Amino acid sequence: MEIAHVNCPFCQEDLEVEQPKNYAPVFHFCTQCNKRFIVERAVKGFTVLTEQDAPCCSNPECRDLEMADD
Ligand SMILES: [Zn+2]
Repeated sequence: MEIAHVNCPFCQEDLEVEQPKNYAPVFHFCTQCNKRFIVERAVKGFTVLTEQDAPCCSNPECRDLEMADD
């Protein structure tokens, strides 16, 4: 795991979240507003997405569903 420094997409709170070493997107909860968002490793740094904005490939739950179909 690696610590990523990100800003909450809802309230802009500075947060430290644990990310896996791979490129899998992960859900996190903001400690300030308690809303759920997605952090995904990018080529450089990390990308923060809201669930609404995330494409299926960046949504952990959507990916799980796709894998279940296999
Ligand atoms: Zn927040």
